[in-house]
Order: sequence, then structure tokens, then C-alpha cells
Amino acid sequence: MSRELRGLGVSAGIAVGPVARLAAAPELPDVNAEVEDVEFETARAADALEAVAADLDARAAQADGAGADVLVAQALMARDPVLADAVAGLVREGRDAPHAIDAAFAEHRRALEALGGYMAERAADLDDLRTRAVAHLLGLPMPGIPDPGHPFILVADDLAPADTATLDPAKVLGIVTERGGPTGHTAILAKQLGIPAITACPDAVALTDGQRLMLDGASGLLVADPEDALVADAERRARELAARRASSHGPGRTADGHPVRLLVNVGGPGDLAAPGIPGAQGVGLLRTEFLFLERATAPTRDEQEALYREIFDAFAGRTVIVRTLDVGADKPLAYLPQAPEENPALGVRGLRLSRRDPELLDEQLAAIAAAARGSDADVGVMAPMVATAREAEGFAAAARGHGLTKVGVMVEVPAAALCAADILAHVDFASLGTNDLAQYTLATDRLAGELADLLDPWQPALLRLVAATIEAGVAADKPVGVCGEAASEPMLALVLTGMGVTSLSMGATSLADVRSTLAAHTLEQCRDLAATALAAGSAPDARASVEAVAREGMGVG
Ligand code: PEP
Ligand code: MG
Repeated sequence: MSRELRGLGVSAGIAVGPVARLAAAPELPDVNAEVEDVEFETARAADALEAVAADLDARAAQADGAGADVLVAQALMARDPVLADAVAGLVREGRDAPHAIDAAFAEHRRALEALGGYMAERAADLDDLRTRAVAHLLGLPMPGIPDPGHPFILVADDLAPADTATLDPAKVLGIVTERGGPTGHTAILAKQLGIPAITACPDAVALTDGQRLMLDGASGLLVADPEDALVADAERRARELAARRASSHGPGRTADGHPVRLLVNVGGPGDLAAPGIPGAQGVGLLRTEFLFLERATAPTRDEQEALYREIFDAFAGRTVIVRTLDVGADKPLAYLPQAPEENPALGVRGLRLSRRDPELLDEQLAAIAAAARGSDADVGVMAPMVATAREAEGFAAAARGHGLTKVGVMVEVPAAALCAADILAHVDFASLGTNDLAQYTLATDRLAGELADLLDPWQPALLRLVAATIEAGVAADKPVGVCGEAASEPMLALVLTGMGVTSLSMGATSLADVRSTLAAHTLEQCRDLAATALAAGSAPDARASVEAVAREGMGVG
């Protein structure tokens, strides 16, 4: 019998496949079991490490290229005789196998970190080995992204940004999480990778490994054990969607030729393979914090430059807007641990980090400028979380000091939207981050699935701040775009166009729908839709009345 579940559809697309659950890292038992037979306990620990190594070997045999090399190197680490000796020594001192492995790996991790550089980066691999060996000993499922040997729909309580960023779209057909909001990192990264996704689905907890699912990432509908007819229909719709996305090209224009540049949001070189990328007019938001998520140590200037150049080269002749590091709150970075804060979303995040660590921003701007000098991309740079004209002025001076000529800021704090004219006086462009702007305007954590209605981008307060910012851009004759998730909703894209945006930046898979919707409406119609949206008293009213007016304009309904 099939069963329907519902969540928030956060990355449009249809997937059908078996469930593979992401197991949590195992908890080490509080009490160390008494060791009666040292030899037996040592062998138990050694067997666990060998099982982990053998599993890695098997996965390496199925992978290719760099992926296989990484797994082979990890298997070698699990068989490291120095580690085995350390574990044996701890067992002799009375630790049981899980505690001995835990302590030996923790000690080894500290030693690697002290060496710095490449060695320190391997520390995260050690953590992975340790949790796998402990899970094996405790008879628990292996933690981390599962690898059942066939494509699957990943089901998890929640996903860390580092987990999501490394997902392989060829293996992960879809994502379902119990937690997570409409504009959290899972939603953003899934969209960038082109993986259909549903968050805030409380019933996902009941799904079991291997169970067949049909997932609709647009509507948020999930069907467990679907009937064959439903699967056939879903597969047909998925094929049609893929064909439409792959065949959509060309610059963004309204039906009467008014240009709105259609750009993509990118979080790393992995995203460059997403469908839609070739047809995009450039990158409107390069989230640089996602480039270095897996690292235990800060990337050097040269490493940053090389990675930026790879992306600039992929977009030669097109625009690339690089956002400087937006670390903190929902985007933690392992190599930049932050002191606990009472309210991280209101704390030292984004551009504010440069108050504490000006060197970090300076290094990054230098690397971006160096990569831009050797490339044919039209490179711009912008700062996240700008709240005042003073901050915009300081950032512009720093960026221009490095020879960067196209300098902007994100408008994602209500203060910046209200003072957009003053801010634009210092910079060349602004980009509206509607995800954070919704979070701060409606005082609602963007990771809170249960409050998703407050984060709705059609909320009147948000629309009014967006309109005021765009108006300031029109008055100053400076481009104002949108790079938050609002840009990827076709009806809202029309409203934003009517308000006067010059560009819309989104996950690559949303481009085709936005492009075709835009091409079916004139600028005048978009202006009418903007007026309709701004006159509405609630988010559902705004959405419904804009849809009705748009349908009328197209002679439908
Ligand atoms: C935003 O806040 O809308 C935005 C685009 O930035 P991020 O989602 O990375 O915080
Ligand atoms: Mg933001």
C-alpha cells in the first residue's frame, strides 16, 4: 500500500528510487567495559579497523580517478601499524576496544593538526575512520553518506553543509530531510547540484532502507511504496523536465525584449556540471565558503587563486560575481571555528568577521584579484551581511585597493534595504539576498521548517523592502539583482522584473522555467504583476493574485 508524506519542496524535480538513510555518528558508551582478556579485546579492535579498511577498498574498486585515490589512502590509514600499536597499548591499560580506538585516533588527530598543511587536512579523514570503527564495534550502521552500490534517495534527520556539498548527483537521486527550512543550506546546495529535495518532512523518520519512494521536489509530495502507474508517470515527467532544462538557452528577455540577465548560483567546481550552466549568462553568486567546507586548515592564497581561476575559466566571456566568505550561523567552516554565540545569526558573521580578522578578507580579495587578472571572465566581488553605508564604503575601498573594479554588496539585512541609496553611493551594484532578508525581516530562523510560512518570499514586508532597494538602484542608475531563492520562482521572477531588477541568479536547474516564463510576458505585464503583489495583504494573497493576473494576461482562465 502506498503512503503519502508531505514536506517543503525546496529543489524542483522528480525522483524515484530506494531509500538509503544517513546514520548518525555513534555515541561512545559512557562507561568503559572492563577488559578481561587483553588479547581478545586487542584483536576485536584490530578486526574493526580491518573491516573499515576492507570496506574502503571495496568502495575504491567501484570509484575512479581522484575519488578512488582518496579511498585507498584512507584504507591505508586504517591499517597504519602506528595506530594499531597505540590502540593495543591503550587496551593493555584497561580501555575496551571502542574507547581505545576513540582515544588513539584523537591523539593521532592532535599530532596531525600540529604538523599543519596537508597533514592537518587528513585529520577529518581520521575522524571518519574512528566513527566507522566504533560503529562496527557497537553493531551500529556506518555513519556518513551511505553507499549502497546503486543510486538512492538520501533520507536524513538533517545534513551538514559539508555532507550536502560532496553529494554525487549521479548517485543521489533525491534528498529528504526531517528538519531544515526553505532556504537552509540543504535547499541551496541541492538546487545547485540539481538534486530534487524535500525538507521539513517529519514523517521521514519512519522510512526504511531499500523502501521505494517517489519524490516531487516542487510540491513537497513524497509517496512511499508508490503504485507502478504512479512511478511510470513520475519517470515520464522527470524525462520531460530533463529535456526541457537541457534545451533551454539564450539571454533572459521579456516578450518585448527587455533584458534581465539570468545567472546561476555556484558553490564549487562540482556545480559546473549541473544542467543549465551552459545556457546561463554567468554566475550571480559564487558562495566561496562552500569551496573550502571540507578543509581542516585555511586555504593559502595560491590555492584560492587556483580554484577561483578554474571557475572564471569555465565562464570566460561571462560575468562571475564572487561573494567574499559568508561564514557563521547556518554556514560553519571547520577551519574557522567560532566562539559560541547566544544568537549566531545576529553575531559575527559574513563581512563582520573582518572586524576580528581583517587579514582573512584581505587574502581573499588578493586571491580573487590575481585570478581575475589572468582570466577572460568579467569578475565582480561583493560582501555578505552589509548593514551600513560605512561598511559598504570600507569594503569597496578594500576591494578597489586590490585592483578589483566591479564592487558590490549584498542587501540581506533590513537596515541595508532601508539605506540602499546611501549604500549604493559607495558601490557599483547590489544583489538582494532574499533568504537572509526574509529571516531578518520576519525575525524567523531560516532553518526553521515549521515557520516556513513566515519565510515565504511573497511576504508583504519582504516585497516592500525588495521594491525599495530596487527603486534606489533605478534612481542611482546602478544594477540591482536578486540572488536569493526568490529569484528561482517563475512568478516571483516576473514581479521582480516588474520592480526593475537587472539580473536574477538561481540554482542552475531553475533557469529554464524562469527563462520561458519571462519570455511569455511583456515588461508592462511584469509591472502590473509587481503592483498586484505589492498591493496584497498577505503572502498567499500576493501569490494567488499574481498567478491569476498572469493567467489572465496569457489568455488562460
Ligand atoms: C541570501 O541570503 O539570500 C543569499 C543569497 O545568501 P545565502 O543564502 O548564501 O546566505
Ligand atoms: Mg545570505
